Amino acid sequence: MINKVDPNLIRELEEYGLKDANKCYNCGTCTAICDLATPENPFPRKLVRYIQLGQKEKILRSPEPWLCYYCGDCSTRCPRGADPGETMMVLRRYLTSLYDWTGFARKFYTSETFEIIAVAIVGILVGLGLLIFHSSPINWAHTDLNSVWPSDGIEKADLVMAAILLFFLLTNVYRCIKIVMGDYFTKVPVGMYLNELKLFFINLLTQKQFGKCKDRQQWIVHLAIMTGYSAIFLMVVVLVNGLPLGIDWLKFQRGWASLGGRTEYSIFHPIRLIGYYATFAIMYGTTYALIGRLRKSKPQYKSSHGTDWMFLILLQLTTMTGIFINFTRLLDWPLVTYAIYVIHMMVAIPMLVLEVPFAKWAHLAYRPIVLMLLSIKEKYIAEHTQAEGPVLSAKPAA
Ligand code: SF4
Ligand code: SF4
Repeated sequence: MINKVDPNLIRELEEYGLKDANKCYNCGTCTAICDLATPENPFPRKLVRYIQLGQKEKILRSPEPWLCYYCGDCSTRCPRGADPGETMMVLRRYLTSLYDWTGFARKFYTSETFEIIAVAIVGILVGLGLLIFHSSPINWAHTDLNSVWPSDGIEKADLVMAAILLFFLLTNVYRCIKIVMGDYFTKVPVGMYLNELKLFFINLLTQKQFGKCKDRQQWIVHLAIMTGYSAIFLMVVVLVNGLPLGIDWLKFQRGWASLGGRTEYSIFHPIRLIGYYATFAIMYGTTYALIGRLRKSKPQYKSSHGTDWMFLILLQLTTMTGIFINFTRLLDWPLVTYAIYVIHMMVAIPMLVLEVPFAKWAHLAYRPIVLMLLSIKEKYIAEHTQAEGPVLSAKPAA
């Protein structure tokens, strides 16, 4: 029943960081000034109202939380201080946990202690694994990561990690599609989903909807983090074993001396340039966001959740240790390089296996997916309205 009232909804959302939604008196100012709201999707007011009315089922099926990029304009202009921008952020956390069938996402978002312990356990296991499983003899005279952890072994471990995290991410994305599409999920032919796949990639890579907001600086920061992180994710997780495609990320990450005879990329090789871009973009984006959150300089930085900090800190630590590895191997400091490599993996692996499918990173997948689904629904309805007369509306229930 879509209209069933859940009296515990506000209490439940408070666990995800909800604070001020009850102050809202439904004036509609927030929706009027939001650059991304449309007559079909009048957020954030409608979602704040759903919360007040305990409409859990309607929230679950709403695409609107994913249409908001948290520019913060609505929170600045709300006459009641109800912070609708943060409310949309809370709903994204809530939906992420509802899409996730394992229950981990809920744990991450409702318990900072759980998240810290989970990250620490995975990090320690990775560290112990690297200390126990290494080759010998180790080259202590010159920096040679390949003499300690051969590239072939690292590539195999990467493949296992990629398989695990993609399994969880894709099964959760499948649930997201099923929930958002509702009655249309089976009606829409597979070909239509495939035809619209390009929209997913366009929105993922350009964040073009965010570009419509007034705060262009925030769009650039978001784009820098997203493109930098996606580039590394693609090369490390998807293409690290992409030698048939001619791509070998380890050549960039570990240097020629660590590759057991493979030839290093030249300074202007596209893979090297992508690596440099990703490093710069992530450092710029995460530093800006961390300073903003510390200073609470913008509405979107005023109510930082534990998962926001964890994502930014892990991402910045991974990038910084990656930069250090490159410097220390060029300086030929074997012990320091090997030690930093262990720390690098201890922060990078928990970030990939925990943050990507269950926490902050997941929104980078859900947002362009939902934008694509909205377009699919609209096209399906337009085609069938012409052919058969009126069918179910694509508009979320008001
Ligand atoms: S959240 Fe604020 S601006 Fe939006 S409808 Fe409520 S009171 Fe008005
Ligand atoms: S934070 Fe920005 S994009 Fe999100 S609802 Fe408010 S005004 Fe719209």
